[in-house]
Amino acid sequence: MWLYNTKSRTKERFEPLVPGCAGLYCCGPTVYNFAHIGNLRTYVFEDTLRRTLKLNGYKVNHVMNITDVGHLESDADDGEDKMEKGARREGLDVWQLARKYEEAWLVDMRRLNIERPEVICRATEHVDDMVALVRRLEEQGLAYAATDAVYFDTSKFPRYADLARLDLRGLQMGGGGRAQEQEEKRNHNDFALWFTNKPRHIMQWDAPWGRGYPGWHVECSAMSMRYLGETIDIHCGGVDHIPVHHTNEIAQSEGATGKPFAHYWLHGAFLIIKGDQGDDGFVKMAKSGDNFLTVSVLADRGYDPLAYRYLCLQAHYRSELKFSWETLDAAQQGLRRLYALRPTNDPLTDDARYADARAEALEAINDDLNAPMLLGVLNRYASYRLWTEFDQALGLDFAKRAVDRDDELPADVASLVAERNAARKAKEWARSDDLRARLIDLGYDVGDSPQGTTVKKRLG
Ligand code: AMP
Ligand code: ZN
Repeated sequence: MWLYNTKSRTKERFEPLVPGCAGLYCCGPTVYNFAHIGNLRTYVFEDTLRRTLKLNGYKVNHVMNITDVGHLESDADDGEDKMEKGARREGLDVWQLARKYEEAWLVDMRRLNIERPEVICRATEHVDDMVALVRRLEEQGLAYAATDAVYFDTSKFPRYADLARLDLRGLQMGGGGRAQEQEEKRNHNDFALWFTNKPRHIMQWDAPWGRGYPGWHVECSAMSMRYLGETIDIHCGGVDHIPVHHTNEIAQSEGATGKPFAHYWLHGAFLIIKGDQGDDGFVKMAKSGDNFLTVSVLADRGYDPLAYRYLCLQAHYRSELKFSWETLDAAQQGLRRLYALRPTNDPLTDDARYADARAEALEAINDDLNAPMLLGVLNRYASYRLWTEFDQALGLDFAKRAVDRDDELPADVASLVAERNAARKAKEWARSDDLRARLIDLGYDVGDSPQGTTVKKRLG
């Protein structure tokens, strides 16, 4: 398998730490609101990675966190905690809010046929691990305490700019507009590891630096190490995580352990949607925007959630995807045609031909998860057998949905089929042709197979 590694900006062959196994950490949802279909695009991409690893025979250990504390409105430690703001909006306490949206997220994941990661871990249940990590950083001289927080000192971590290829020149402290309490930061990019002296914050824990709560970035480092070890194979997220969140995760993790944190960094591009203020351009779908769609909204409008999954798979995960109702309509039509495929008349019954087609399909998906190319191969062969095998990577629920429904034919259609089979057996060709015409009039495509008459409801 070849994967595009953000760290090197090239496609690299996947070589796991332990042969046959793949450890995967994916940044999960902040549970203060419903996940929108943009967030879910990222989880579909990560699920495609997970499924492709499995298709290639790897035993996958996939960890995803639930951010239920500490994610402030801005990635740069500014603003209010998203959870507390959400709780106020809904008149719930923060714990109730977290459970409500965690549940809703799990439902959305299931509706999109996203496999459940082996570990789903909540930040609030791993605060001890985070405190221990911050202590380690302090011991290494990489953290310093200020009145409002313990900060990571980015000037002590020379590789800080590497992942995002940041240009750190010209970024100085004390710039205008910064919240007063952050004046104590030593360097522009320093970030909070542990917030202190926030008496109004509801979720608080004891720690050596005073009661408080963890910074958002530290949670992923601590939980990744807890479940997957100090160095892991693959770490994923959306592209927005490259310059701050993942950059900070690397600094804290590698600063503490002296080891590489993750070998492969994979990032999914955004789902974008037409701007809503008379704007002709497309903008990122965001929870703070008005153009935020959920799986439930799609379902209420009559769409199969898997039509959205199919739409996601039609774009490469590293390309932006423009959402529109027209493209979703087309995806739903495509999915219906796909589910109409039947095991009879499979063009790839010959084993040698099947092996060639299979190699072609595998090469497509193993080339940095090129799902659109794989779909091209599968649609070209239109083989039930090939679809069944590669749907393991695509997750369109093909085998279950594309069942042979001939036994569910309406009674009148079934009796015409039986009559036609009898007529053909008796070599009554004129009568057989007449019965075929009647089935076509009823909206069926009619075929002849060694087993007899086949009928398929015409689509559209
Ligand atoms: P959040 O719940 O806001 O922490 O985001 C969860 C995941 O969704 C992260 O990996 C983000 O990078 C990703 N994400 C946010 N907005 C979009 C979008 N418009 N398209 C694709 N992924 C997104
Ligand atoms: Zn993370």
